[in-house]
Amino acid sequence: MHPGFIAPCNNTRFPNLTPPLLDLQQNLLTHLRQVARDRDPFLSTVGHFYVQHYIRQQFAQWGEVTDRAFEYRGRTYHNWELNLPAQANHKSKPPILIGAHYDAVPGSVGADDNATGIAVLLELARSLASHPIRYPVRLVAFDLEEIGLVGSSRYAENLRQQNQSLRLMISLEMLGYCDRAPASQKYPPGLQNFYPDQGNFIALIGNLRTIPDLIHFKRKMLGAAQVPCEWLPAGMRGMIVPDTRRSDHAPFWDAGYPALMVTDTANLRNPHYHKSSDRLETLDLDFLTGVCQGLIEGVRSL
Ligand SMILES: [Zn+2]
Repeated sequence: MHPGFIAPCNNTRFPNLTPPLLDLQQNLLTHLRQVARDRDPFLSTVGHFYVQHYIRQQFAQWGEVTDRAFEYRGRTYHNWELNLPAQANHKSKPPILIGAHYDAVPGSVGADDNATGIAVLLELARSLASHPIRYPVRLVAFDLEEIGLVGSSRYAENLRQQNQSLRLMISLEMLGYCDRAPASQKYPPGLQNFYPDQGNFIALIGNLRTIPDLIHFKRKMLGAAQVPCEWLPAGMRGMIVPDTRRSDHAPFWDAGYPALMVTDTANLRNPHYHKSSDRLETLDLDFLTGVCQGLIEGVRSL
């Protein structure tokens, strides 16, 4: 364990994990063990291929998997998409799109970044396939996020060109690191006066159109999931606080969609960010399970 890692939150949040939450945690852990491996798209092609195969296989349990392939510097890369239908009388509504990137930086197994996002994406698929909601749901695993949001940019541009609308886009970006120690949370300049200095919350960052949804998801996180939650509305496509643009929701902001990011705030909290030490044992599985449960309940009740 990293010498700077203090006061882990493990096993403190859910003293009585109920069987459904225990099952959810076990499923998340199974996904994390498959995805947290070297998988840089250029240097770790075997791991990169393996993780894509795993995601496709998991998605395929719930419906047809669509390959949204794109070209980058003469090679073909893949965003993987699964569409889940709405309840019978709600079929004409615009879909909720939930995305997470599956690539990682060289020299890191990317446990928090972003195996946690993919693990939660796969459990959202299971939950929403078993019990359809009032909106169609589209789950997308994006590639080439780390080199500049390439996969999600191509995807969002295509969607805009086809004039497709979305009820909401949700980007799952690093969901499993928690630190309750004082002063464990940093902020971009200007924000530290408004938010807690303990890194024990999940953050929601959305454009102004998503403010009612931000409030809705915060309520669900605090409710059954018991996860502290902070939210930030980002005006002007996040240009005022550029740190708010560092994931796959940003191309959707640019294309004019309502979009929000769910994140543990990456390097503003996690000392293992983009390092070889971003490993499974640094994650807080109870925190991750609570975040996943809060998202399931939040999406269900939109
Ligand atoms: Zn990253």
